[in-house]
Parts: sequence; C-alpha cells; structure tokens
Amino acid sequence: MLKKGVAIILALSIILIPIKAEAANRVSVSGSTVTITMSNNQKLTGKYVPSYRYIKWAKAYLREYPRTGNNVKVVVTRGTQVGRIWNNSKWTAVLYQKKCYFIENAALTQVPSLKCADWVSGSQISVRWTAVPGAEGYCLYRSRSKTGKYTRVATNKGVNNLRAIVSESRGSVGYYKVCTYNISGSETIYGRSSNIVVCDTYAKSKLGYLFPSGPPTSDAAMRKYLVNVTLPVRTATGGKGTITLPIHKKLVNPVKSAFNDMYNIGFKVRKADTGSYNWRKMTTLPLQSHHSYGCVIDINWKANPLVTLSQIGKSAYNPSTNPYSINQKVVNIWKKYGFSWGGDWTEKKDYMHMTYTNN
Ligand SMILES: [Zn+2]
Repeated sequence: MLKKGVAIILALSIILIPIKAEAANRVSVSGSTVTITMSNNQKLTGKYVPSYRYIKWAKAYLREYPRTGNNVKVVVTRGTQVGRIWNNSKWTAVLYQKKCYFIENAALTQVPSLKCADWVSGSQISVRWTAVPGAEGYCLYRSRSKTGKYTRVATNKGVNNLRAIVSESRGSVGYYKVCTYNISGSETIYGRSSNIVVCDTYAKSKLGYLFPSGPPTSDAAMRKYLVNVTLPVRTATGGKGTITLPIHKKLVNPVKSAFNDMYNIGFKVRKADTGSYNWRKMTTLPLQSHHSYGCVIDINWKANPLVTLSQIGKSAYNPSTNPYSINQKVVNIWKKYGFSWGGDWTEKKDYMHMTYTNN
C-alpha cells in the first residue's frame, strides 16, 4: 500500500514524508476520475473539478492530474494529521488520514441567478436570487465597482433562504453577486458565483423617487403623501364598478392606467379582498412593509395568496381555473407601468402583490 502511494507521489516529484507509515492514502487518476484507496482498503472515487476551491492538501495531490470533468465537488474533512508534502524547498500541504473523500454532487455545478437588488428602506437593500438544489446555503458579496474587490455581506443558511437585507449608505452604488456553499466537517466548499446585479444610489431608486429625503417613519407622516383614487373595476357579473384606494400621489397616473387596462381586458377585481395602503411591518421580516408607502396594491387576495415555495401549486392561486387569480396579462399590464409582481419573487410567492418598488 505505502509503496504504491510513494511511487505515485515520487513520480510527481513531490516528496511525501508520512508521520505514520500506515496512514498514507493511495491516489490514482484515470481521466478525470480520482480514486483514493484508504489504508483500510476502502475506495473513494470522484471527479476532478477545477472550478471548486480545494483545501490545500487535496490541491497538492490533484494539481498534477488531468484537469477535465465536471459534475462533482470535492469534499474534504480534516482529521488526524498524518504527513506533509515537501515541494520546492517548502512545506506545501498537510495530509490528513481517512478524511479525504470525493462526492459526486451535480447540484453545486449549478449557479444561482441573482434577480434583483432594490432599496427596501432608506438604509437597506434587499437582494433576491434563485435556489440551487443541494446547496446548504448562499454567500452574498458586494463591490463598489463591477470588476473591483467583492466582500461578503451576507451568509444565508438553507437551500431556500433566497433573500438578504444588507445595510447601505444612500450615496453608494453596490454590485452584488451570490454563490452557493456546502459544509463538510470544518471545511466550507464554495460554488461559482452568479451574475452580477447593480443597485444604484438611493436617489436614483424607485423608493428614492417616492421619498427623496428617505421614507416616512410614521403613519401620520406618510398620510401627507397619500391621495384617495377612485378606480374602475369589473364586477362579478362583468359590469362596471369602482374601488377607492389610497395611493402615493406620484403613482396616481400609473395605477389609474393599470386599473383601466385590467377593466378593458375583463379582469374581475373584488373590492372585498383588494387593498393598498396599510401602515404595518412585513409579514416575514421585521421591516416596514411597502404597503406602508402607498406604492403597493394587493388584488383579490383570496385567489392570490402569499405562499412559501413548498406551497406552490397547492394554494387557491390558479389562473387557469380561477377568474380572480392574477394571470400573465394582468402581470404584463402592471409591468408596463413600472410595477413588479410578488409572484416573480424567488424566496416566496406573493401572488396578490403589485409593487412599484419590488418590495
Ligand atoms: Zn401585498
């Protein structure tokens, strides 16, 4: 066992000095498949993936081998130190016994898609991305220029933990990207990074447009921005009705246009479960809901509930059978006037929710 291991290592011009002779593992490589034979003859196989970050000793073993293949991550858990690698007149790596293994795991070759970064308050940005099956969590990074140095600003544990709120100063522009991570023992294995999304200064944001000097902090302060707008709605029988909603004064025209368009395509809006302004916190985070800012309309909420990712397809939301569920035509109408739809969010689905600020 040891002789073969030493032979391989010597062939690479690396001198292995084992502290315990029986501890040396044998590594063989065929194409991109790596097999490690442990000292108890247990065989562990996997494929070499250059895009992952390895801990030092795995890299020392593998860097001389063919660098092809994919679909696999290398997982290394530190155990008992059994040796070191002497290379180019210095110690380059530390070897650990029985703690190196390679696991086929296609999931982490997927990259999350970063969807948006929007101001959620006068001092915070909300960032959303898509899930990668198999990820144990996500790391969010920010830079002040697209190609500059990125530093981690959030770590989200859990495969469906897809939104982060990060602090920001109003004059700053932030470039964001996210990557997956998996934990193995004391090691963290990172996946590749997502696309980059930029979030401009507060003044150039939609929230900044509505509140140039920052969002109000009380119901009384907010009411100065609101006007009651009477809007046309298609009734249950298809006739013409109206609904009156408090709306931010800067959004009266787009909201009127959207309701007119919904009326013209025959989409029925129920007054009993449609609303806008409500000074309150978010249902899922301790932040002020954007319903507090007069820039959100909830439409027919009984037919368009707020659901978790695991409840998708199991709720009352069904635009193909329920005429009160928001369909793609309705979504397109609101998007035309600058609104976003809660049904497009990644970390949950708020089907009723049309929001100017994407929060
Ligand atoms: Zn809502």
